[in-house]
Amino acid sequence: PRLANQIAAGEVVERPASVVKELVENALDAGAQRVDIEIEQGGAKLIRVRDDGSGIGEADLPLALSRHATSKITTLDDLEAVGTLGFRGEALASISSVSRLALTSRTEDQEAAARVEVEGRDMAASISPAAHPVGTTVEVRDLFFNTPARRKFLRTEKTEFNHVDECIRRQALGRFDAGFTLRHNQRTVQSLRPAHSDLDKERRIGSLCGQQFIDNAVVIDAEATGLRLWGWVALPTFSRSQADLQYFFVNGRVIRDKLVAHAVRQAYRDVLYNNRHPAFVLYLEVDPATVDVNVHPTKHEVRFRDGRLVHDFIFRTLHKALADVRP
Ligand code: ADP
Ligand code: MG
Repeated sequence: PRLANQIAAGEVVERPASVVKELVENALDAGAQRVDIEIEQGGAKLIRVRDDGSGIGEADLPLALSRHATSKITTLDDLEAVGTLGFRGEALASISSVSRLALTSRTEDQEAAARVEVEGRDMAASISPAAHPVGTTVEVRDLFFNTPARRKFLRTEKTEFNHVDECIRRQALGRFDAGFTLRHNQRTVQSLRPAHSDLDKERRIGSLCGQQFIDNAVVIDAEATGLRLWGWVALPTFSRSQADLQYFFVNGRVIRDKLVAHAVRQAYRDVLYNNRHPAFVLYLEVDPATVDVNVHPTKHEVRFRDGRLVHDFIFRTLHKALADVRP
């Protein structure tokens, strides 16, 4: 089974950033208000994600590392309307098969924390007592130490860290209610408190996308039956340093979708006569029953039941918002 995990790992674990993504999603799934991410050497040496979520009971620790041991799907209905971000139940198993992984956790009703360590394909059964507040810390050391071919494909420390940073940016844009810190080689790169007010949210956007972006952005907020679109679209006065500042969330999950991209671009072009790719951070909220997010577990795809309706709503909303401020 450990070999099967290693094979499965190829699907989930491409590079340090993919590990970070899975661990942070787990933390948020566990109701964390605060997630601290620590990275060393671009993540190749260490990835540590600590949360203050519900924790994992001692008896469930080894289970959490076994394949398809998800606690998040109980019925077929759940699978169809995935409320939580994770749904596959194999991320931890896959990651642990290609790294040295330690899981330390404590639930509210435990006196002390427990820690389990796994190294590559040798599943260690031993659980030892540990000190940890309520919540979970996952440490992933020496990623791909036992799959040298894969390790060779890691890029420079800087490139790998940029991917991690981008991953955290997406997570933090998707969850204003949670706080995040990101450290690389003992240096604090991001420190984001939970953002509840509009001002806090704009501040977070400024930290993650640059003050320039927020200073040049039009605020979007519109509703139609069963649909809401809100966020920020930058005007052409925004001169971006980032190549591609385009974030679109559907019910909290970042996605890439041709239909959506077309609607945004078309509105931008029609109103501003500008052919550039607009920069935006947008949030679409729809009835979960009208969107399928299970198309692919790691690619960020969705399928809308009524794509035309969604497209037109986005187009009309942005068209109006941009026309209102057109110089
Ligand atoms: P999935 O997230 O798809 O369920 P994972 O392999 O990512 O699968 O995690 C397996 C299980 O371990 C989860 O279902 C959850 O019960 C538990 N788990 C993992 N990380 C955490 C965490 N940070 N806090 C609480 N429980 C966790
Ligand atoms: Mg998961």
